[in-house]
Amino acid sequence: MTPLFPFDNTYARCLEGFYVPCEPTKVSQPVMLRFNDGLADELGLDLASPEAERLAEIFSGNEEPAGAQPIAQAYAGHQFGGFVPQLGDGRALLLGEVIDRQGNRRDIAFKGSGPTPFSRGGDGKAAVGPVLREYLIGEAMHALGIPTTRALAAVSTGEPVRRERSLPGAVLTRVGASHVRVGTFQYFAARGDTEKLRTLADYVLTRHYPSLQDRPDRYLALLESTAQRQAALLAQWMAVGFIHGVMNTDNMAVSGETIDYGPCAFMEAYNSAAVFSSIDAQGRYAYGNQPMIARWNLARLAETLLPLIDAESSDRAVAQAMEVLNAFSDVYEGRRLERFGAKLGLTTVAAGDADLVDDWLALLEQNSVDFTLAWRRLADAAAGDATALEAMFRDGAALQSWLTRWQNRVDQEGSTAAACAAAMRASNPLYIPRNHLVEEALSAASDRGDLEPFERLLDAVTRPFDERPELGNFAEPAPLTFTARYKTFCGT
Ligand code: AMP
Ligand code: MG
Repeated sequence: MTPLFPFDNTYARCLEGFYVPCEPTKVSQPVMLRFNDGLADELGLDLASPEAERLAEIFSGNEEPAGAQPIAQAYAGHQFGGFVPQLGDGRALLLGEVIDRQGNRRDIAFKGSGPTPFSRGGDGKAAVGPVLREYLIGEAMHALGIPTTRALAAVSTGEPVRRERSLPGAVLTRVGASHVRVGTFQYFAARGDTEKLRTLADYVLTRHYPSLQDRPDRYLALLESTAQRQAALLAQWMAVGFIHGVMNTDNMAVSGETIDYGPCAFMEAYNSAAVFSSIDAQGRYAYGNQPMIARWNLARLAETLLPLIDAESSDRAVAQAMEVLNAFSDVYEGRRLERFGAKLGLTTVAAGDADLVDDWLALLEQNSVDFTLAWRRLADAAAGDATALEAMFRDGAALQSWLTRWQNRVDQEGSTAAACAAAMRASNPLYIPRNHLVEEALSAASDRGDLEPFERLLDAVTRPFDERPELGNFAEPAPLTFTARYKTFCGT
């Protein structure tokens, strides 16, 4: 029989001392809530043979697929600015790696599969709501073209997990380019273990940045390329109004994928100070702070790499790392103007575009306009009908004067109105995971075992750019009273 997963586990094989072997906890009544056929196909899994029950056994951790080597990975991290020298997989296990159909190595991991040596008192479990939330938001991000870990399966366990109240338990199977975090580097740096750091850095170079691995300055190049991927990622988050919610260094993947969907949310009315996470009272991870926080996290990565960048002179190492970090704002701004320029219907970046973008965002903020819908209505304006757009703004005169500037800029590029509107509709999603719809879908699944709202929402957000009248009010913002009170939780 061919194995379900053609595992080839380099992390377990090459990085001894970076993890602890650990088995998933068995569960009593696994039931498949959602399986990601498309992703399974991408991974080249042999799913012709197993039936649904067997898949539920496998993706709950009850039956170990051949070739799996479950391990809990060690990592540290700055949580809300404070350093914790040991975090690690407290409710997750890496099963192993497979090479997908595109030739890319992908991690297959569980989340919520029971305690590990890193759990420190936590139960290592996860509840149906947060598991489906990670599934849904990850698929939405993927459909928006944003690098992200993705869910392969969500299985309910038939067992309660104790949180503020008792909730139905679940296990998520997560697929990612890897699970190496900034915090993984910090774990070994905090212990002064330069040899393990070098091993990790070399591993990451081979796995994620192979074109750099033979360069004499490869560790500096690793920092620089990681910074470039983060800059590109952050520009994409900002362009869709995504608020990660808990950008601790253990939640930043060096692959450049979005990882660890906890208290994340999508912004409704534009507000650069928007924050929804119940544990982020200071607004450290507010929407507008995210690029700056990414740079802060990269500075923490840089600190760990200093002894590798220049073993003889820490002054030289610091100077080189600082140069990379100081360039981050410009690199990010370049990516931001590309993204936001495309959202404005532009194909080139020209002097004055930053002001055009910023003035538009200021208008949205002053008029409390829904971020997602405003861009779609602007696409309608590009097509010649500004009525719906105008109806969103209190200050009509300010909008008109901005629209004139924007139209002039669009005209410079010489594309037709129809082509410009079409390009804008392909850059500006209509359907995002609206917070009120997410909550409705998750409580139906968690409280009543009704997965239909979840399936409908998943269907909408995985085709985010195509207007579909049958989806009715899925594109509409939540009632203002909902958003004013909305809070997200780390919820595990
Ligand atoms: P996160 O909030 O997902 O970034 O997790 C931060 C740390 O807390 C990680 O080390 C997790 O493994 C750990 N953790 C979170 N939830 C649990 C849980 N239910 N049981 C054990 N450890 C947990
Ligand atoms: Mg985490």
